[in-house]
Amino acid sequence: MSDDRRGSYRRWLERSSTATIFVYSALIVAFFPAFHFVLGATPGVPPDSLALRLAAAAVAAAVAIALLVAPKLRRYSPNLQLLNVLPTIVASPILVVNSGNNPSYIAGSLVLAIGVQQAFYRTRDFVIVLATTLGVEVLYSAIRGVFFSPANLNALALSGSGFFVAMAAGILRLRVQRNERELRSIVRDRTRELSEANAKLEEMSVTDPLTGLRNRRFLAQHLEFEVAAALRRTGDVPDADLLFFLIDLDHFKSVNDTYGHNAGDLVLMQMRDRLREVFRESDFLVRWGGEEFLVVTRSSRRSDACEIAERARTAVAGRPFALERGQRVEARCSIGFAAFPFVPFSPRALSWMQVVALADRALYLAKERGRNTWVGATAATRIEPEGLAERLAILGIDALQDGTLHLLVPK
Ligand code: GH3
Ligand code: MG
Ligand code: MG
Repeated sequence: MSDDRRGSYRRWLERSSTATIFVYSALIVAFFPAFHFVLGATPGVPPDSLALRLAAAAVAAAVAIALLVAPKLRRYSPNLQLLNVLPTIVASPILVVNSGNNPSYIAGSLVLAIGVQQAFYRTRDFVIVLATTLGVEVLYSAIRGVFFSPANLNALALSGSGFFVAMAAGILRLRVQRNERELRSIVRDRTRELSEANAKLEEMSVTDPLTGLRNRRFLAQHLEFEVAAALRRTGDVPDADLLFFLIDLDHFKSVNDTYGHNAGDLVLMQMRDRLREVFRESDFLVRWGGEEFLVVTRSSRRSDACEIAERARTAVAGRPFALERGQRVEARCSIGFAAFPFVPFSPRALSWMQVVALADRALYLAKERGRNTWVGATAATRIEPEGLAERLAILGIDALQDGTLHLLVPK
């Protein structure tokens, strides 16, 4: 059977309505009188044919096996499938052979056995099959006027037994369902744990282990979005700028050399706290390199940049950093900054990475000017945005002289 057709058979089974179960039962019930007819027996008169008994038993076994391999049942484990179908396999031939060749009894027994089997799957199916079977049984024997015949009472007794077997089967099925539910809830828990672990891993991959600040990877992931927002808002609102501050500790090597690498680490960790004091929670605080930090402020005004830079400078230089055993060390930092969009009337003249490169040049100038200070790189009023990136790449810091760049320094 092709996958396609198997799929549609499965769908048919899953959608099987009350009506289809009725048709299913009726077909089986109708099968036995037809069987009698083919064998030349007179309807209503129990024939006594070994061939009929064996054929009926074979059909019952075949139906049972067909049910065993039915796709719908494959949802259960093989053991459970076997258990599921066992009543049909065992009961059908016995019932059929002991039926005294009463066709309605044979049909009823077989359908009952199938009903028991069905009950493992759906109680509703079982009730329908049972009702059909008993209905046919009663109707048939009423027509013949032999309702209280021993064979008939036998059939009713067997129907009752079948009902109990079905109930046992139903209980078993409920247990299986409960196990499945438990299994599902375990799977759900594990899935949640896994996604939590993944989120943690994702967080770790964008975090600097020493300071807990963001790393370059984080910036690469998040800045494009901020840049797009800034480009959208430029010109509409005054506080649409992204400000890039590069902050580098001065003569940090000497902290390590004098107090040891651990002391250096302590200073770096306290740098995180000082940066958090100065900047907003929504700003990106990134450990850019060893003792170098990049802060990106969002929804800012470029006119505030000097004041922010001064606040960051004093947050570092204003009070000493604590080391172990009550020791303290003074630290200073130099800051270079630039705003994005770099040219307000030509927002796409430089990319954010080119703006970071300008902030880096400004930082270099701050070091040159004696450290513990800040320098801002801005576009000169008469700047020509055409080919700006190429000109900056060629001229470098000399662009200061040709009227392209304008520096901001403390007064
Ligand atoms: P400058 O004022 O020119 O920036 O001088 P500097 O000494 O700060 O700069 P330099 O680049 O010469 O040295 C940076 C030092 O930062 C060297 C390195 O030992 C130290 N450093 C970098 N990463 C770490 C770190 O994770 N922990 C510690 N303790 N030190 C670090
Ligand atoms: Mg340094
Ligand atoms: Mg450095």
